[in-house]
Amino acid sequence: MRNILIVGAGQSGLQLALGLQARGYGVTVVSNRSADDIRGGKVMSSQCMFHDSLQLERDRGLAFWEQDCPPVEGISFAVPHPEQAGVKALSWSHRLDHVAQSVDQRVKLPGWMEAFSQRGGQLLFKDAEIEDLEQWTREHDLVIVAAGKGAIAKMFERDADRSPYDRPQRALALTYVHGMRPREEHSAVSFNLIPGVGEYFVFPALTHSGPCEIMVFEGVPGGPMDCWADVRSPAEHLARSLEILRRFLPWEAERCAQVELTDANGLLSGAFPPTVRKPVGRLPSGRLVMGMADAVMLNDPITGQGSNNAAKFAHAVETAIVAQGQAAFDERFMQHTFEGFWNGYGTHVSGWTNAMLAPPPPHVMRLLGSAAALPAVARRIVNGFNDPTDYANFFMRPDLVDAYLAQVAPAEEAAA
Ligand SMILES: Cc1cc2nc3c(=O)[nH]c(=O)nc-3n(C[C@H](O)[C@H](O)[C@H](O)COP(=O)(O)OP(=O)(O)OC[C@H]3O[C@@H](n4cnc5c(N)ncnc54)[C@H](O)[C@@H]3O)c2cc1C
Repeated sequence: MRNILIVGAGQSGLQLALGLQARGYGVTVVSNRSADDIRGGKVMSSQCMFHDSLQLERDRGLAFWEQDCPPVEGISFAVPHPEQAGVKALSWSHRLDHVAQSVDQRVKLPGWMEAFSQRGGQLLFKDAEIEDLEQWTREHDLVIVAAGKGAIAKMFERDADRSPYDRPQRALALTYVHGMRPREEHSAVSFNLIPGVGEYFVFPALTHSGPCEIMVFEGVPGGPMDCWADVRSPAEHLARSLEILRRFLPWEAERCAQVELTDANGLLSGAFPPTVRKPVGRLPSGRLVMGMADAVMLNDPITGQGSNNAAKFAHAVETAIVAQGQAAFDERFMQHTFEGFWNGYGTHVSGWTNAMLAPPPPHVMRLLGSAAALPAVARRIVNGFNDPTDYANFFMRPDLVDAYLAQVAPAEEAAA
């Protein structure tokens, strides 16, 4: 039996651990927090996951909360009018082909940790350091570091060619609430783009106390939505969230007349630079560890892709481990597995996400504007959140956007 050790009990680490465990591998997971620490701690993410990622969880029998979690049925998009307060310059929505879901990681990760232990997995509680990795690489066939934004991920060299930003591009905040008025037409990620200020999106989710809504604020650094540093209490955090909505997005504020925080830990603020790292970590002894998901491919949350990327990355690693059979998990294996995932998927997620952090270029505004009149365009944009590789075929290039719109507009007119 091959023995694999995974540092990090997050989305990718636990999905991979449970997947390998079911296939008969000996798996150890190292976590710097217990299930109770995570359950009773602060929220970490808004973790909206789209169909293909949810399917990976279903395939592994890990969709424990699927019946209880409210569905996210579509995506809506709005831009406020620059001069007329309370008026939308652009507004449209479309249903996803398959629903998305968000299960609070404070619910999901402890549940997966417990399932892993009950199925005979070994869970070790330790804040892993380099000396630990030295020891574990001697005792295991493969050591994977899936420590997310944990400091240990810095052992992987930053890949400057794949990391266009060297500082945070948004001031981030999360506010989990009960009592928000639902969208009328269908539930959705309600995405609002306020040029020069930032983005706000909100959608239904499941937390400890049942269904809730998660408000996500993405403030341009130094702008009016970069406003969390002086917030001192949960009540102030909620009040600041609502102030932003009243000032910039009154249609979203209207939904919030009755909201209250889900709990005193249902909030977060912070910032980090999106960073791609080299996947192979060389220890002082020369032994190797492999990086996975956020540890080596960290994206800004603006496109809601991190957990999705983590699930798909873990799936790619699981597939590669199985395909390797009894062969060594050497540098070639690590590099090859990473590059395969990067070229087929990761580069599209990073490219699109990093593009969304810059002011939208004219071809993107043209495309987003066309979606208001052309449902086929709206549908394609919306479903790209599930599979962002499609954006390379239109969204990302002015010539492809023009060609696509020239083709789709007459077809929609004929169908009307
Ligand atoms: C504000 C915000 C909103 C987001 N919204 C979304 C969204 O809507 N959709 C989406 O798909 N993604 C979203 N994400 C991103 C998503 O949460 C992450 O990309 C995803 O959780 C990454 O999974 P991972 O397995 O790489 O790491 P994580 O899930 O972060 O897990 C890493 C684990 O490793 C542990 N760890 C760290 N260091 C050590 C150590 N030295 N020893 C042992 N354990 C260690 C940590 O405690 C943690 O539990 C959001 C992120 C943020 C910050």
